[in-house]
Amino acid sequence: MLVKIFYLKNLCNISLLLFWASITLAQGPPVQDSIEQFPVPASFKFIENPIEALSQYIQLKSVTGNEIIAGEFLYQLAQSSGLHMKMYSEERDQYNFIASLYPLSSAKPNIIFLNHIDVVEANNPEAWTHPPFSGHIDDTYVWGRGAYDNKGAAITQLYALLKFKSAHQAEDLPFNVSFLSVSGEETQNAKGASFVIENHFEELHAELVLGEGPGGVPDILISNPDQVVFGISVAHKKALWLKLKIDNHTHGHGSVTPESYATQELIHALDNLTSFKHPIELNEINSKTLKGLGRLDKSLQGFVLRHINFFSKIFPKLILADPVARSLLTNSMTVTNISSGNAVMNKIPSKVEAILDCRLLPNTDSDQFIRQLKKILDNDEIKIEVLRETGDAIISSTQSSYYNDLEKSLLEKYPNAKVIPVLIPVTTDSNKFREKSVLTYSVNPFEITREELSSVHAVDERIRINSILNGIDSFYIYLNNIKKTKSAQATN
Ligand SMILES: [Zn+2]
Repeated sequence: MLVKIFYLKNLCNISLLLFWASITLAQGPPVQDSIEQFPVPASFKFIENPIEALSQYIQLKSVTGNEIIAGEFLYQLAQSSGLHMKMYSEERDQYNFIASLYPLSSAKPNIIFLNHIDVVEANNPEAWTHPPFSGHIDDTYVWGRGAYDNKGAAITQLYALLKFKSAHQAEDLPFNVSFLSVSGEETQNAKGASFVIENHFEELHAELVLGEGPGGVPDILISNPDQVVFGISVAHKKALWLKLKIDNHTHGHGSVTPESYATQELIHALDNLTSFKHPIELNEINSKTLKGLGRLDKSLQGFVLRHINFFSKIFPKLILADPVARSLLTNSMTVTNISSGNAVMNKIPSKVEAILDCRLLPNTDSDQFIRQLKKILDNDEIKIEVLRETGDAIISSTQSSYYNDLEKSLLEKYPNAKVIPVLIPVTTDSNKFREKSVLTYSVNPFEITREELSSVHAVDERIRINSILNGIDSFYIYLNNIKKTKSAQATN
């Protein structure tokens, strides 16, 4: 029972580290009128105060598909600070650019801060304390959609890069640092990071990508709820979207039930599927995440986590009772749609389809996964079609000097915090770089409370002014540590 209580609480809390990255796959709203209507004047003056810059950025509403105006603002902000600019946009509902310390043509190995311009809609504005696109600033917070996800994070990246730039103006560094802003992250459409990678990957000279990820959150450890834990995401699950289709030409009137028919067969197969218990698969990263937490937690619960290999064998049911634990430890299949397209209530349809959202742990082969799925469905008439899949989930090493420096820099800025590597079950733009074998770490280098985190994609999204300022410091410290490590490596 203790184990159960522990898992339910602690693994739910891990979800705090994972929560920020929820995504939708909806179509974006209609595109704004015209790029010519962009209101920022050509005489744009750089905004020295990052808080003021964030407020103005939030005020330019950029729900996916409508990134242009906010994108132009960010572009001009970066350009007016003296960075080298390059646009990667071809269409009106797309806005991507990169701003770099040195021109990309210098071919220096590049450390890329990745962020997205688009935000999700603010559905019930009347419920907000301040209007969602007001960018309201009070003594503690900047308020508005995107304050955390991802405009606040982008501002910390940009101002850290600029601080680093002015500190090393006179030097010719052996590496580049870039700020890459893209569209379409919230709907994972093809116009943002995917477009840039497909068409311009080589010229980026990407050596390290830093994307959005968990911040430093309290309430993770039962033995010490005040302890702030930073999760650095180093891996993701692979997404595999499948269509199951049965077309066995059954027909007839609903008043006379046939022996078997398409809808009934699909229901049976889906029953097999939803009752299937995926086994726990401990790998390099999920065991590291749980053991890392276990080492920090000086309670019985921590003991269980430190010995996750053992306990997952003897109490798998208890451990998998928690959805977050399940998502970290197993492959998953979720039925997200069932449809026959039949609008007539008394007609038996001949075709029925279901959509599955499957998430595979790193190193899972999708063909093998589909073969296993066929066995589970236990019906040869059901055809399986792959609708879309993301690339193989490559784990970014926690042994690299970039990881060590990141951990060290966070601890330098937040001496009382703890840092652990984590696996994120959802797909973000960071994954697209991992798929290209680029070392990619995702983290927001500032502290955030449970309450603040729950405002992301919801009502009253806001970020503490101090979080932004500390985040800028953290990434600035990180860039300096990278510089030190690189010069030490060069002299060795
Ligand atoms: Zn985001």
